[in-house]
Amino acid sequence: MNGPMLGRVKNPPVRVGKGTPTQPNGHFARPGTGPAGETCKTCAHRVRRELRSGRVFQKCGKTKARWTGGRGSDIRVTDAACAGWEKDEA
Ligand code: SF4
Repeated sequence: MNGPMLGRVKNPPVRVGKGTPTQPNGHFARPGTGPAGETCKTCAHRVRRELRSGRVFQKCGKTKARWTGGRGSDIRVTDAACAGWEKDEA
């Protein structure tokens, strides 16, 4: 029998290594649900954590109870503001 094997994948690719990198997902609410044009960078709840090594991690203060030592509870300053956004007056 010649032709494509419909519905079946012969020798599917095997994932090697650490797999998909964890994406920053520490937002209070879904990014984009806040005021247009604002980002986590301009939010009063953004927390900049700097380790003694000099590495900097961006977190959301409204989700502090969910913080871990990993990237999954990080945010990015460029992320669109979420519904918890409040103007940083500082
Ligand atoms: S916009 Fe503010 S409240 Fe929302 S995830 Fe970013 S830092 Fe947290």
